[in-house]
Amino acid sequence: MPAHVMTVQGPVDPGDLGFTLMHEHLVTRFWHASHRYDLACMPEDRRYVLEELSRLARTGCRTLVDVTPVGINRDPEALREMAERTGIQVVMGCGWYRDSYFPARAEIDRRSVDSLAEEMLAEIKEGVAGSGVRPGIVGEIGTEKDWMSPAEERVHRAAGRAAAAGGLALMTHSFASDIGLWQLRVLREEGVDPAKVVIGHADTYRLKPYHMALLEEGANIEFDTLLWYRPELFDNALDLIRDYVHEGFLGQLLISMDTCKAEHLSFFGGAGMTAVHDRVIPGLLGRGLSEADISAIFVDNPRRILTVETKVPE
Ligand SMILES: [Zn+2]
Repeated sequence: MPAHVMTVQGPVDPGDLGFTLMHEHLVTRFWHASHRYDLACMPEDRRYVLEELSRLARTGCRTLVDVTPVGINRDPEALREMAERTGIQVVMGCGWYRDSYFPARAEIDRRSVDSLAEEMLAEIKEGVAGSGVRPGIVGEIGTEKDWMSPAEERVHRAAGRAAAAGGLALMTHSFASDIGLWQLRVLREEGVDPAKVVIGHADTYRLKPYHMALLEEGANIEFDTLLWYRPELFDNALDLIRDYVHEGFLGQLLISMDTCKAEHLSFFGGAGMTAVHDRVIPGLLGRGLSEADISAIFVDNPRRILTVETKVPE
C-alpha cells in the first residue's frame, strides 16, 4: 500500500486529510471508574454529536482523530457510521487507556508485553474483529498519576512496539505533571521515532522547560484542554503557542479540543466542537501568527504525523 492515512472508511491519500483535529472523542463512557461522579460520557443520543460534527464540517474541518481507547467505549462501527453521515473523515485509535480504565478482560497484568502488542498489531493489519475497521493511530494511552504504574508501563511498551511495527503514530494521555518525558523515554526504548509521538494534554502542565525538553527531543506537544481544563488560562495557552512558534517549533505543535463528555458540547453549555474555529484561531491570528502558521498546526503537522509510510502487511 502506498503512503496513506488510515481512516475508519479505509486508507486515504495524505494530501486529502485537510484541516484536522487530532484529539477528540465521539463516543465515550467513563462511569465504571469508581471515582467518576461527573457527567462522564458523551450523550447516548447520537443526534447531538452528529449535529456538532455537521457544524464542524461547515467550518472547513475535514478530519477528526478519535483517540478513544478500548475500555472507555471505543466503538468502530459507530465511528464509521458518523463519518458516513457527516462527511468528516475519522481516524480511530487503539490500545488501553490508564490504570482505572483497563478492562479486566484485557488481562494486562497477566499477559506478556508482546502479546499485548500483537493484539494491537492484529487490529492495525486486519481491523477490529467483527468490523474490519482499522486504527490509524495508537492511543490514547496514558498514565494516571505523575508516575507510570507497572501495568501502564506494560501498555506503553506494547503500544510502542505496535506503533513502530505498524508505522503508526502514537498519542499519549499525560496530565498535570512532567510525565510526558517518562512516556517518551519508554517509547523510545521500544523503537518509536519521537517525531511520531504526540504528548497529549501537554497544556495541563505549562512549565516551559518541560515543553522545551519534549520539543528538543523531537516529540510533538498537543494543547487540547484549552476550553475545559482551567479555561481561565486560555489566553496564557495561546501566548505559549505563539512563543513556541517564534522559537522555531511550529512543526511540532498541535491543537485540539479533547471533546469527551456531554458537557463539552454546545447543546450542554460547553464550548462545542467548533471552538477551535470560533476562538482559538482568531486568538492566534490576533497574536501575530500567520495563516501559514495556522495551516501548519492544523493541516501539515497532522498529515506528517498520521501518514503511514511503511508497507502495512495486507
Ligand atoms: Zn486524555
